[in-house]
This record gives sequence, C-alpha cells and structure tokens, in this order.
Amino acid sequence: MVSLITGASRGIGRGIAIELARGGHDLVINYATNAGAARQTAADCVQNARHAGKSIRVEIAQADVSVPDDRRKLIDFTRTSFGQLNVLVNNAGIGSARRPDILETTEEEFDHLLAVNLKGPFFLTQLAAQWMIDQASHPATAQPDSMGTRQRPADQDGGSGFKIITISSISAYTASTNRADYCIAKAALGMMTQLYAARLAAQGIRVYEIRPGIIATDMTAPVKEKYDQWIAGGLTPMPRWGIPEDVGRAVAMLAGNALPFSTGEIINVDGGFHIRRL
Ligand code: NAP
Repeated sequence: MVSLITGASRGIGRGIAIELARGGHDLVINYATNAGAARQTAADCVQNARHAGKSIRVEIAQADVSVPDDRRKLIDFTRTSFGQLNVLVNNAGIGSARRPDILETTEEEFDHLLAVNLKGPFFLTQLAAQWMIDQASHPATAQPDSMGTRQRPADQDGGSGFKIITISSISAYTASTNRADYCIAKAALGMMTQLYAARLAAQGIRVYEIRPGIIATDMTAPVKEKYDQWIAGGLTPMPRWGIPEDVGRAVAMLAGNALPFSTGEIINVDGGFHIRRL
C-alpha cells in the first residue's frame, strides 16, 4: 500500500503518517517549507513501523498544494518513487491569517486561503483519481510495493482498494465570523467529498471526509488558552484536546477495509462536539 499525505511534516498530517506507517504503508510525506520537520517525521514513521514489525519505505516531497505545477510534481514523484498510489490524504491546510471579522476579510486573504485549503485538494484529488482509475484498469502495470502487493480494484482485493480521504473540520458547519474564509473552504470540502465519492464509486475508489475538532498542533497553539477555558467549560462532551493520533487512527481505519460498502461518509473526530445538546 502506498499513501500520499499532504502537509505531513507537522501536526495532524504527521499523526496520520505515523499511524499509516504502523499499518505498514509506504509513504510520501509532503511538506511546504519545513524540510527538517518532514525528515524527522519520515524517520519517526520508519521507527514506528519497525516497532510494529513492518518494513516500509518513506519519501519526503516538497510541494505547495496551491500551485498547479507542484501538484503535478507531487503525483509524478509518487509515480517515479513507488509506481502506484493507493491512498491520498488531503490534509495540508492553513488557518485564517489574521482572524479578521467577516466585514474586513480581504480578497487577497480569501483567495490565498481558498487556493491552499480548497483548490489544492480539489485538483490534487482530480490528478490522483485519474491515476487510480488507470491503475484499476491496468493492475499489472503497478510495481509491487514493500508489502509485495500489486494494486487491484477494491471489490476484488480484500481491502487494499483505492481511498481518498480529506481532512476538513468542525468549521465545515460551525460559523466563526472571524474565520469566514476558513469555514467556507471547509464547508466546500464536504461537497467535494460527496462529488468525488459519487463519481468514483464505480471505479472502486472510496472517498471520505474526516472532521477533526480541536486538535493540539501548531495551528491551534496561538489560541490554546482560550480553547483550554472553553473545553473546561464544557464545549466538548469529551473534556480534552484532541491529538494528531486521534485523527491518524481514523484515517488508518478508513484506509483499511473497515467500511467496504460505504463511501462519501463523514467521520467526526471531535470528542462529540457535533452533538447538539440542550
Ligand atoms: P499545522 O500544524 O499548521 O500543520 C500544517 C501542515 O500543512 C504542515 O505540514 C505544513 O507544512 C503543511 N502545509 C501548509 N501549507 C501548505 C501548502 N500550501 N502546501 C503543502 N503543505 C502545506 O496544521 P494542523 O493543525 O496539523 O492542520 C492540518 C489540517 O487539519 C488542516 O487542513 C487543518 O485545517 C485541519 N484541521 C485542524 C484542526 C486543529 O484543531 N488543529 C482542526 C480541524 C481541522 P510545513 O511544515 O512545510 O509548513
């Protein structure tokens, strides 16, 4: 199994990479600028796999998902390195730059955030899906991965079928008026998941959305005190911060064959935040 994870140098992407490594996946760890963190994550993945009794290969790849040439480069790198792609995880994302009030959001901020958080995953998924369809129709052309398997269509393969998993957010349905661009992008990823799930089901490609809640990463570090207070005050039924591993375990579950007759599903990884309470 070969998995490509965008934004896997730090935070949630790193947690996803480590969980997939434990499951024996070969990995492409994408990053934007932080090569040192990506190398560290790659080394930690190899070590975690070894502890789990697995031998894997991990490559790191610089690419800005908002740049069309970089997206092509990332897919080409995966093809050259491994000859196949089984799982794409669209994780890379940025927060609202200034957390401005919705009445003060600028067009530049809006365009940049949507380019990274929405256009990036939409068009990277398009490239990955085209290649997955090609792999499904020519299974013999795929090189064996380090588990010695060649990719076959999902309904014949006992669980190594193609998956596309997108990390959206509770912001897909929660209105934060000082992060309008972020909320709009995350809501749109929900429809993106439905669209690709509907289009790719017949080709044996299953498409899922994961909605993390409040997860301790560099992204949430600047608002830690505020969220500490909210969580202590009962914001989430489960009274703790999420950790990247929580999201990683959900991705590992979806990347396996836990839900063989389900596509387009949303998995909430939020300590129960989404439950309406009275
Ligand atoms: P983070 O700690 O800030 O890490 C962001 C990761 O994305 C880094 O690996 C970074 O690479 C990479 N990245 C940023 N811009 C990129 C670009 N243009 N192209 C490629 N990679 C890029 O963020 P996080 O908290 O782990 O968030 C990961 C995802 O989960 C995001 O989509 C975020 O919206 C979502 N999410 C987060 C939370 C939360 O509470 N943390 C909650 C819900 C959803 P470098 O290291 O090279 O900068």
